[in-house]
Parts: sequence; structure tokens; C-alpha cells
Amino acid sequence: MSRVFNFSAGPAVLPEAVLKQAAEEMLDWHGSGMGVMEMSHRGKEFTSIYEEAEADLRKLLGVPPNFRILFMQGGAIAENAIIPLNLLGERRSADYVLTGSWAVKSHKEAGRFCTAGVAATAEGSGFTTVPPMSSWRVSEDPAYLFVCTNETIGGVEYPFDPDMAALGRPEVPVVADVSSHILSRPVDFSKYGLLFGGAQKNIGPAGLTIVIVRDDLIGHAHPDCPSAFDYRLVAENGSMYNTPPTYSIYVAGLVFKWLKALGGVAEIERRNIAKAALLYDFLDDCDFYENRVDPACRSRMNVPFFLADESRNEAFLAGAREAGLVQLKGHKSVGGMRASIYNAMPIEGVEALVNYMRDFAQHKS
Ligand SMILES: *Cc1c(COP(=O)(O)O)cnc(C)c1O
Repeated sequence: MSRVFNFSAGPAVLPEAVLKQAAEEMLDWHGSGMGVMEMSHRGKEFTSIYEEAEADLRKLLGVPPNFRILFMQGGAIAENAIIPLNLLGERRSADYVLTGSWAVKSHKEAGRFCTAGVAATAEGSGFTTVPPMSSWRVSEDPAYLFVCTNETIGGVEYPFDPDMAALGRPEVPVVADVSSHILSRPVDFSKYGLLFGGAQKNIGPAGLTIVIVRDDLIGHAHPDCPSAFDYRLVAENGSMYNTPPTYSIYVAGLVFKWLKALGGVAEIERRNIAKAALLYDFLDDCDFYENRVDPACRSRMNVPFFLADESRNEAFLAGAREAGLVQLKGHKSVGGMRASIYNAMPIEGVEALVNYMRDFAQHKS
């Protein structure tokens, strides 16, 4: 067996130790005589898997007791509708900060349910930066303010936690799509009302959606909100109002244990900073490649870049594939290349990528 370095934006690389453990436990989990996929979600075996996964996630991120962790389905895109359906209550509007494709998509979906305002947009920069908070215009009485704190496609990451108190609007809860950088750095929960994300970038298999929501934002669902997506019903039923994505929760739980064992979020952040610096420093030093994102807002997780000679794109990708470096093609809306270097990407993968890129640039003629 030979494994590649997989730079996919998602579903994405998982820690090898986790995949091996899942393989070992496939037919018989802990002497139960069953694989996890075969277990009743209400049995004592899966209940213990579920409870440990939730407790480990709470511990890793330091989730305060007044926040509920919900394990849902539908992905981040479904949450774009589920969030307004749950949070609008009596209000008729919500504000969005537009920083790239994902925030734009969320804003558009919200427009189906309410007046979706734009508090700030980075469109003028070609979505290569985060508008400074001092430029945000919060409307009169929005139900929430929405941000996407890591734009997976554009490679733009917030270098700060949005602070509504600093804007004089502490009553407006911040809702953040953290799909592609959850658990890569610490979170200051005092700044947020709700965090959500699909699992398939930094946590585990697709099919699981994590929602971390403050107590007081639960219980305001629109009467037309599907029951399975009503945060109150999901919370009251311990995320088992409907059958949860059990295998995805199990693998996510293994990832949480892997992360705890290597030193938690503080240690993975240190590693992520080192990996990102290695790649960005190389891109900045080598004339043959370019990253166009505002250096203050460059994502540590998703690194888009362009070749100076774009006619070499196919040759670059083919050579990379041969070197065991895969899924480097950029998103079609951006072009060029993109290397996603999530928590589970070892520094050796980034070193191999930089070495390949250096060789390719030198033999470009
Ligand atoms: C991948 C991604 C999504 C879409 O997630 P789905 O699971 O396909 O719904 C939304 N937002 C961000 C920031 C993402 O990275």
C-alpha cells in the first residue's frame, strides 16, 4: 500500500492513525461483536461513543456550559437555511459579511427567509481580504450577524474574532461558518452565538454537521421549520431526534482523541502556523508562483496559488500526481492551484509539496 499526500479541500485527508484504528475495529468494536455501522444509535455501545465524542469536542474547544453541541445532518449548505429558520424569531432581517463564495452563498439562501443585509463586503478586492470591523455597518435590529471565518475557496481567513461589543452592538449574536478551520485554532466563545460546520474538512467523514449554539438562541424556530432541523428538538433529544450519522460521529470521535493525544488545539495551531509559513514563505520568495490574498488574511488551511505561466498548469498537476501529491487543482471559480493543509496534513506533506514546486519552477523552460 502506498498513500499519497492529499491536498483535497474536502472531503479531505484524515489522520492515518485514525483510519487504521477504524479499520481494526470495523468488524468488532471493543469486543461487542459488531461494527459501529451496525449498532443501534440508542444502544449502550453507541451511546458511549457519542457521549465521549461530544465531551472530547467540548474539552478540545473549551465550549462553555451555556452552549449546546448538536450533531446534525445536511452539511453547512443546509445550515444556511436552518439558521434563519431557527434564529429569526420575530425579527425580519439578518446581516451578512461577504468575504467569498461561501458567505455569498449563505447570504443568498438567507434572502429566501428574511431581508438579508450586507454589513460589509470584500467584493471590491476580488474577495482577497476581510473588511475591517470598523467598516461594518450593522442594521437596526438584525436577528444575527453572519460571517464565514475561513473561505475555503478563496483562501481568506479572519485574523480576528468578530467583536460586536466593540461595535457597540453586544446584543447581536455572531453566527460563524467554521467548516474549514474548526479545531485548527482556539475560539473565543464570548464573541459568538453560533458556530457551525460540515465535518468533512477538519473533523471526519462527510454526513455530519456540527452546530455549537448558545442556549438562549434555541427555541425560536419558525413554525414551518422541519422538526428534524429545529434546534430545540435536536437539543432536547440529545441529537437523536432522528437517527444521527453514527459512523461519521464515531470517526469524528477518533479524530478528537487523536487531537487530544497530540496536545490539543494549542499544539495543532502551532503546527498549522509552521506548515502555512513554510508554504507562504516559499510562494513569496519564488517568482514562479503567486498567492493573491491580503497577507494579513491568508488562510492557514487553504492556500490558493497561481503559476506565472498558466500554460504550465496541466504539466504542474501531472508532475505533482507522479510525485504522490494529489488534488492540487484550484476551484473552478478561482482557477490556478489550491493546497488544503488541514490539521491531518503532516508537515512532511507540505515539505514534499514545496520541494516539488521548487524543482518544477527550476525546470520550467
Ligand atoms: C465545504 C464548505 C461548505 C459546504 O459544506 P457542505 O457540507 O457541502 O454543505 C460551506 N461552507 C464552507 C466554509 C465550506 O468549506
